[in-house]
Amino acid sequence: MVTAIETDKLIKRYGAVTAVDGLTLRVEQGEIYAFLGLNGAGKTTTIRMLLGMVKPTAGQVRVLGASLPTGDRQLWNAVGYLVETPHAYPELTVRENLEVMRRLRPGVEPAAVSRVIDRLGLAAYADRRTGTLSLGNQQRLGLAKALLHTPPLLILDEPANGLDPAGIVEIRHLLLDLARQEGVTVFMSSHILGEVARLADRIGIIHQGQLLQELDVAELERNRRRRLIVRAHDGRVALAVLLNAGFAASLTADGAIELTDNAAIERPDEVATQLVLAGHPPTRLAVEQEDLEPYFLRLVGLDRAGPDV
Ligand code: ATP
Repeated sequence: MVTAIETDKLIKRYGAVTAVDGLTLRVEQGEIYAFLGLNGAGKTTTIRMLLGMVKPTAGQVRVLGASLPTGDRQLWNAVGYLVETPHAYPELTVRENLEVMRRLRPGVEPAAVSRVIDRLGLAAYADRRTGTLSLGNQQRLGLAKALLHTPPLLILDEPANGLDPAGIVEIRHLLLDLARQEGVTVFMSSHILGEVARLADRIGIIHQGQLLQELDVAELERNRRRRLIVRAHDGRVALAVLLNAGFAASLTADGAIELTDNAAIERPDEVATQLVLAGHPPTRLAVEQEDLEPYFLRLVGLDRAGPDV
């Protein structure tokens, strides 16, 4: 099976700015790969290079086995894409815009227009002029266009952009369905780890044009910091009991006891037993996992973010 997307030491410089700095990626067919980075990390530039819209300064791109640039029009029939705010003719309706797009795609049957309108939940807006659409519905229209020709590979720049929470969930289900039921490969960018952690098989973290880390989602769960939080009526005395029992523990700013070693996290019952035996039973005992966003900021080295971030 050919690899869906492969890049090799991809570089893009704009004058003194290095937007993408030696990026080597591999996306297998059928997987959902999330490309995660802060604003300006180089996501859009990479996606433009994957689509042949921007010429790399150096390095290689292969899409579905074809090296870019390619004169092979067939390749682009196999790719659906969405890059930044999707373009539409503002005076035409949603249906008319999709019809224009359909005619540009040889071999796509007329019924495809209604199919994508339904799939993206655009039925109520089908006869509205696109110039009057909300940002979220323009985004849906952009996704509808990307799906019109049922491509096996989707390359989507911030597909959740402008969508409300319900829309984000809908699009997540749509992309999961496409990948799991139809074997579609999805390469998508995002700046929200919490959003892609529920969707992606693998996450590539890009920062200042470089791939910092690639994770599968199970690994992400393992890497997140965990801690056991214990409260007692007298936190200081309870802390002394736990330190005496050999646990590494400390008090948090709000008077809780924090334990970060695995012995405590894996056996909260041991911790509780020690406190009960000493006559200071816990009033609360909970294993907490680091939130995704602090985890992401820690990975990109911005966890001690100053006011200029
Ligand atoms: P965002 O989430 O804000 O869209 P991004 O990760 O997509 O960010 P890019 O748009 O790829 O980031 O930008 C990466 C860097 O390259 C930024 O510093 C940006 O200013 C710069 N850049 C992008 N396009 C150009 C251009 N045409 N000319 C000059 N600099 C550019």
